[in-house]
Amino acid sequence: LNRRSRRSPAAQGRLGALKVRALRFELFIDNEWVDAESGKTFETFSPHDGKVIAKVAEGDKADIEKAVAAARRAFHRKSEWRQLTASARGRLLHRFADLIERDAQYLATLESTNNGAVCTMTHFLMSGAANYARYTAGLADKIHGDTIPSDFEGFTYTLRQPVGVCGLILPWNVPVLMFVHKVVTALAAGCTMVVKPAEQTPLTALALVALLAEAGVPRGVVNVVNGYGPTAGAALTHHPHVAKISFTGSLEVGKLIQQAAGATNLKRVTLELGGKSPLVIFDDADLNVAVPVAANGVFLHQGQICVAASRLFVQSKIYDEFVKRAVEFAKTRKVGNPFDKTNQNGPQVDEEMMNKVLGYIEKGKAEGAKLLTGGKRIGTTGYFIEPTVFADVTDNMTIAKEEIFGPVQSILKFETLDEVIDRANDTNYGLAAGIFTNNVQTALQFSKHAEAGTVWVNCYLGGGPQGPFGGFKDSGLGRESGLEGILEYLETKTVNIAVSNKFCNRNTRYREL
Ligand code: NAD
Repeated sequence: LNRRSRRSPAAQGRLGALKVRALRFELFIDNEWVDAESGKTFETFSPHDGKVIAKVAEGDKADIEKAVAAARRAFHRKSEWRQLTASARGRLLHRFADLIERDAQYLATLESTNNGAVCTMTHFLMSGAANYARYTAGLADKIHGDTIPSDFEGFTYTLRQPVGVCGLILPWNVPVLMFVHKVVTALAAGCTMVVKPAEQTPLTALALVALLAEAGVPRGVVNVVNGYGPTAGAALTHHPHVAKISFTGSLEVGKLIQQAAGATNLKRVTLELGGKSPLVIFDDADLNVAVPVAANGVFLHQGQICVAASRLFVQSKIYDEFVKRAVEFAKTRKVGNPFDKTNQNGPQVDEEMMNKVLGYIEKGKAEGAKLLTGGKRIGTTGYFIEPTVFADVTDNMTIAKEEIFGPVQSILKFETLDEVIDRANDTNYGLAAGIFTNNVQTALQFSKHAEAGTVWVNCYLGGGPQGPFGGFKDSGLGRESGLEGILEYLETKTVNIAVSNKFCNRNTRYREL
C-alpha cells in the first residue's frame, strides 16, 4: 500500500491513489503521526482473500486521553480553529471535497481492499462523500440564531455555538461515507473531535485525515485513534471532556454508549443504529422495476447496509409471480473479487460476520422458511455468500425479526394495506421503509403510518445530503445530514439584553405586575 507509482502520468491519473502521500498506519493526534502509547499494533485484513494488508497502531485509553486533550486545546476560545470565520471553515471543507475528488480512485481502492465493497460501489460512494462535504461546507456560514420578541423589557436573541469536543465512532460497512458525514458536519459546526474508526476497517480514516491536514485543518481539530470498541471506544464515551458522541453501529453498542454518556458528563448523543426495514410491493406495481429494486435493496454491499430491505412484503395476487422473478433475478447476481467491475457482490467483511449470516440462513431453514436459491458460502477463500432468497417467511421467524446484515432476501405474503402497515411496524427497529404502488392514496397512507425515519416510494435506497437521516424507535436517536444534522453539533444560547435600566429594577417591578 505504501509503494509509490512508477507508472506513466496517464496511468497515475487513473490510479489517483499513487499520487497521494504514502499511507501512514499510526494514530493521528494533534496533527502528528504517533505510535500508540502501549506500542501495540493490530492486523487488518482484506476480506476477499483473508490476507493481512497492514499493521495499524492500536490505541487505547492512554491515547484517547492524549487525543481528547489535543481536541480540547484546539477548542479553546483563543485557538487558531476558534478564530477562523465560519466562511473560512466552509472554504476548508470545499478544499477537502476537492482532495476527495482528486484521490477518489485511491480512496475507493483502499475501501474495497479493506471492507470488500465492490469497486463500482466504492467509486460511487466517493462522489457521494465529496458531494456531502460540499453541501455541508455551504452550511458552515449559514448557522445563525434568531432575534425573538419576548416579554422581557429589552430584546432576546439566540446564538448557535459548537457543542465542543466530539467523539465520532464509526462502523465498518461504509467507512469513508461515515467518516465524511460525521467529521465534516462537526467541522462545519466549529467542533473539534476524536474519531474512532471500526477495528475491521481502520485504513480509509487514516487516508482521509491526511487529506484534512493537507486541506489546512489546524492542529488538534481532528484526531484519529484506531483501536477496539471496549478499550478505545469506551474510553471516548466515558471521557468527561467529550461533550458529544456521534455513533453509527449496532443497537447493542448504541445502548452501551448511551449508558456511558449518561454516567459521566451528560454527553449529547446521536445514534444511528440498525434496522429491519420493510419494503412493500402492491399488486399494481411494475414488476420490471420492483423486482430489481427490491433485490438491490437487500443484496447491495452483500446486505451490509443499515437500511437493507430485509423484509419484503408482496401482495397475494402477484406473490407467486414475484417470487419466481425474484429467484431468477438473484441467480443472475455475480459474486466475486470486488475489483472485477462485472461483480455486483463482494465478500462479507470478515469471517465472523460471514458465519453470523450463515447461521441466520440455517435458522431460516430450521424454522420452515422456503429456501429457493443460495444459502451457502462460495469457495473457501474470502468470505463470500450466495445471494439467498427465502419465500413463505412469516413474521415470527428469526430471519424476519433480527438484523441479518447479509445477502438474504426474505419474502412475506400480505393481503391488505391495513394489515401490512401493522405488520411492517411490528418491529423494534424503525430506520427505513419502502412501497411500490401506482395508487397515490396507498402510497400516502403508507408513508404517513410507517414507523421509519426514511420512506421510499416507487424506489429504494438513495437520496442526497439535503434530507435528514435517522431512525425511529431502536434505530437511533437524532438525525444526520440536512439542516437537522448540523443542529446536532450545536448548542443554542439565549441572550437577553436590557435596553434600559428599568430591567435592573426587576424585583420592584415584580410587585407592580
Ligand atoms: P458495532 O456496534 O459492533 O461497532 C461500531 C463501532 O463501535 C466500532 O467502531 C466499534 O469499535 C465501536 N464499539 C464497539 N464496542 C464499543 C463500546 N463498548 N464503546 C464504544 N465503542 C464501541 O457495529 P458494526 O458491526 O461495526 O456495524 C454494523 C451495525 O451498524 C449494523 O447494526 C448496522 O445496521 C449499523 N449501521 C447503521 C447505520 C445507520 O446510519 N443507522 C449505518 C451503518 C451501519
